[in-house]
Amino acid sequence: MTHYDAIVLGVGGMGSAALYHLARRGVRVLGIERYNIPHEMGSSHGLTRIIRLAYYEHPAYVPLLRRAYELWRQLENTVQERLLIITGSIDASPEDGEVFTGSKASCHIHHLPHEVLDSHALNARFPGYRVPQGLVALYQPDGGFLLSERCIVAHVMAAQELGAEVHGRERVMGWEPTGGGVEVGTDRERYSADKLVICGGAWGSKLVPELSTLAVPERQVLAWFQPLRPALFTTATFPVFNMAVEEGRYYGFPMYGIPGFKVGRYHHLTQNVDPDNMDREAHREDEEVLRAFTARYFPEAAGPTMSLKTCLFTNTPDEHFILDLHPGFPQVSLAAGFSGHGFKFCSVVGEIMADLAQRGHSRHDLELFKLQRFRETAGMAPS
Ligand SMILES: Cc1cc2nc3c(=O)[nH]c(=O)nc-3n(C[C@H](O)[C@H](O)[C@H](O)COP(=O)(O)OP(=O)(O)OC[C@H]3O[C@@H](n4cnc5c(N)ncnc54)[C@H](O)[C@@H]3O)c2cc1C
Repeated sequence: MTHYDAIVLGVGGMGSAALYHLARRGVRVLGIERYNIPHEMGSSHGLTRIIRLAYYEHPAYVPLLRRAYELWRQLENTVQERLLIITGSIDASPEDGEVFTGSKASCHIHHLPHEVLDSHALNARFPGYRVPQGLVALYQPDGGFLLSERCIVAHVMAAQELGAEVHGRERVMGWEPTGGGVEVGTDRERYSADKLVICGGAWGSKLVPELSTLAVPERQVLAWFQPLRPALFTTATFPVFNMAVEEGRYYGFPMYGIPGFKVGRYHHLTQNVDPDNMDREAHREDEEVLRAFTARYFPEAAGPTMSLKTCLFTNTPDEHFILDLHPGFPQVSLAAGFSGHGFKFCSVVGEIMADLAQRGHSRHDLELFKLQRFRETAGMAPS
């Protein structure tokens, strides 16, 4: 049985970054991925993911975001490829809504440059928008998007360059603690390691049963519509957005990679699913939800459909991440439950997971992400 210092289970967004940061520290590491590298079965495909510094979900994310931006830029230099494109970001909602107030609070607490635009100013400044009176937007100039599949490839290639071993199309069937270490069995081999880093995305609770009520997979759908006036939806003229309106909370991107304006709705049709047995086809009713929103708020973007893709969120009860040691086995660390907003953090989560595997704690403040917070709600009893 081959022995490693560390095994990373799952080479998607988070796992590829963990692999890289472990390899960078001279750790002998193996990454195991059940599908292709990269693939379209998990949570990280669809070409682009929003990154934004004004963080309405909680101001505690902002220091992690600053480090994430720094690490993404370092990775671009390492692989000599552009991975992060700045467009600015818009967070819009009614003035007392969570998106606007949360975003503004993050900016004030962390002294982030920003501008507040009422609906009239927003429609005038970015003419792709046609939002009604009553919606208020925060513009933050550092927002943009990451090229998600390219980020995974970049982390994997940079890790391989440093000696990491990576096995695609090899499925982990189970893992067991053995003394202070672990053994991992796959559909091809058996391995042992001192540490195991579990980054299984939507499969997290199949790999760690303690996560079953804490990391719940949910079906999502993305749409790309051909703009009627493409000039209004380029990376130079259209910032990425998050927008809470009466129909729900939506996000969107300028055209990039696919000839269309990209749009999605958080918790699309609220369908919790088994990732091994979900409907991966996008249907007319999926498209309609996204088209109706686009036609109302971005009418110049609502041309013919270019592409539709399904994808998976993995939600925690409070929609904050899980970044912690396993409650029973400290040689195992967990990155789970990214609740539809994790990708932008992959670079810094890689660093955190390397810290947890090597030292059992991290230089970053992980208070918001501890399993302990669910002790009462989910009957979880961390030791
Ligand atoms: C439609 C959509 C839009 C999103 N938009 C944004 C956005 O704009 N900005 C943002 O920051 N975030 C966004 N997110 C969230 C973000 O993409 C996810 O949080 C992130 O991709 C999660 O990464 P992950 O590594 O946990 O999952 P994945 O990248 O799916 O990786 C998990 C990996 O584990 C592997 N695996 C599982 N089980 C096994 C096994 N038994 N053996 C071997 N390998 C295994 C899987 O195959 C997979 O490759 C979005 C998500 C979706 C679905």
